[in-house]
Amino acid sequence: MRDLRALKARSDVRLLIEQDLGPAPLHQGRAWHWKCPFHHEQKGFSLVAWADGYQCFGRCHERGDALDWLIRYRHLSFGDALNTLDTPQAVSRLSGSLMDTRQAGPPPSEWQERALAVITEAEETLWSLEGAGALEYLMDRGLTTRTIRDARLGYVPGDFRAFRDLHGLRVPCGITLPWLDEDKLWSVKVRRAAGEVKYAHITGGKGGGLYNADALTESSGVVLCEGEFDALLLQQEAGDRLTAVTLGSASARLTPRWLPHLLAIEQLFIAYDSDEAGQRGATYLGSMLPHAQRLSLPMGNDITDFYLQGGDLYAWVEEVIHGQQAVNTHD
Ligand SMILES: [Zn+2]
Repeated sequence: MRDLRALKARSDVRLLIEQDLGPAPLHQGRAWHWKCPFHHEQKGFSLVAWADGYQCFGRCHERGDALDWLIRYRHLSFGDALNTLDTPQAVSRLSGSLMDTRQAGPPPSEWQERALAVITEAEETLWSLEGAGALEYLMDRGLTTRTIRDARLGYVPGDFRAFRDLHGLRVPCGITLPWLDEDKLWSVKVRRAAGEVKYAHITGGKGGGLYNADALTESSGVVLCEGEFDALLLQQEAGDRLTAVTLGSASARLTPRWLPHLLAIEQLFIAYDSDEAGQRGATYLGSMLPHAQRLSLPMGNDITDFYLQGGDLYAWVEEVIHGQQAVNTHD
């Protein structure tokens, strides 16, 4: 029995529509617009599609998901539509087509310059008396001073709900985590000191990145971690055996910018948290990356937990690489 939800999750409706209607004449962020073929639209672009569905905002209000598109536009039977979704090409198709530079490019250089000034200032603060508490927090997570410096972590002092206007940007107070890749600054995430909402971003950055992507090579194994601190810790402890990267959270989606890179990696592992959100995220990733192996930790909810409870990340990685730890993704 095929998992219908997983099939849908790994197919991008926009790309199916693009196969039928050609490149979208209009992009608005993640929404792509076409002339609606269902009501033979002449003037506007009422058909809007996202990764997981489409809708006509014009006369006919036709809407649905990937499967609906195949059935209603291509007039496929349910079975044939399923077969169309259940091909590796659904994934490779995605990798080839969305490499649209307008979608994939970094933020404007002016934003990058301002945000770089912010993270430089935040670094100075972290290593000053004012940053002592934040530095202690990071070191309590097992990160060494070298890791913290290399990752260019910083600190913007202030209340956990507050923002500061720095270098013309609205900056949430907290620990700053820059997402740098190929000398470009893609975004800056901020770990708040307290509160329900743990993370915030400096407005204007671009999502859809892969943290620590600079360290990727095709020859070494890769572990997809749930968050930045786990990735930094695993890279620190076992970086000479593999590369640790992250999408930034359990719910973050893998974008076409990174999918082909990850599909090219032979030894690919997913090590998300053992809680429900983590397991959901890992299931989604497994559907995008069918060759990835899901890992479970010997103890603790996440990589940092495991380490702080005395776990040996290097030894664990050794086991993982030699295949003694793998859990079947197709559960
Ligand atoms: Zn329509």
